[in-house]
Amino acid sequence: MNDFRIRFAGVTKDYGSISVIDNLSLDIKEGEFVSLLGPSGSGKTTLLMMLAGFETVTGGDIIVNGVIVNDLPPHKRDMGVVFQNYALFPHMTVGENVGFPLRMRGINRTEIKKRVARALDMVQLSAQCDRRPTQLSGGQQQRVALARALVFEPRVVLMDEPLGALDKQLREQMQLDIRALHNRLGLTIVFVTHDQSEALTMSDRIAVFNKGKIEQIGSPREIYDRPQTRFVAEFIGETNLLEGRLVSIDGERADVVLEGGVKISVSSSGLSVGQNVLVSVRPERLTLIDSVNKVNSLPVRMVDAVYQGDHLRAELAGENLTLTARLCRSAPERSTGTQVVAYFDPRDCWMIAS
Ligand code: ADP
Ligand code: MG
Repeated sequence: MNDFRIRFAGVTKDYGSISVIDNLSLDIKEGEFVSLLGPSGSGKTTLLMMLAGFETVTGGDIIVNGVIVNDLPPHKRDMGVVFQNYALFPHMTVGENVGFPLRMRGINRTEIKKRVARALDMVQLSAQCDRRPTQLSGGQQQRVALARALVFEPRVVLMDEPLGALDKQLREQMQLDIRALHNRLGLTIVFVTHDQSEALTMSDRIAVFNKGKIEQIGSPREIYDRPQTRFVAEFIGETNLLEGRLVSIDGERADVVLEGGVKISVSSSGLSVGQNVLVSVRPERLTLIDSVNKVNSLPVRMVDAVYQGDHLRAELAGENLTLTARLCRSAPERSTGTQVVAYFDPRDCWMIAS
């Protein structure tokens, strides 16, 4: 009971000579919310469809609860699936749509009625039970699809970009709703998205996909604050990448000489002296100071500053260097062309091999 888990062990998927998933291994714990995040075409849907049983694996094993499920048909996998396009049946009412998986499983009418009512209640659509999907808004249709995936009380729910068609406000509301449902029901959720802020908001762990491989897996904080590769640093949020060479290491600290000759101090993230590196500094970690008086002071010129309501976005240019900074609203105003100094704390950056 406590040991439920999903394990991809060296899973490969080829279409003819094209490799779509490349020897991928991933463990998902009972009750975990894991997002598969990556650009379009990186293999997220393919991996989810193999887990659901709609696609076969070319190599390796998918193991659920200690059992290899490679050849198990979808309805025997005890997984609810919510697809990208809701795939509701237009000729059925909302209630009939939600009850469909139960009818497929041969459950009796009274029981179906009870469970459908419960599932619709869970997504706050009890009042819409007798309507047709076309009479509902996009957000409501999405919740019907969710209720249909939950109605047979699966322990695992797979979702493929379920919120992609919703407008921003509704999408953000649904993100919180799905998270709350996950917490309340203790479900294991595997959630596909190409939206990094969605993945950061919802997940216990994020697996970042690139070309059929997992480039990095970790908590939202690890992925955002300690990207292991350039791809991850650039895909998750916005970042400044400073090119340089690692010249010395002293315990937790390391010194990097940037292309323009300025020496900066960073956390030593397991790289070796002499290596060419990229130092990733998030725009919100930069502040502007008036003179060079600390470590990590980069003389720059204010190229542009745009007021964005909750912050000021500044474009800065220095020796061999351009930076973007998100400055807090109360930062002193500086006009375009002004010479300033960009500063960041050595703990607020992360070094990766270039
Ligand atoms: P994602 O969901 O990350 O956007 P997919 O898993 O849908 O990516 O697709 C990964 C790659 O596999 C893409 O290059 C896509 O063209 C290819 N692909 C997906 N399904 C098929 C198929 N049935 N036949 C051939 N290639 C496919
Ligand atoms: Mg996809």
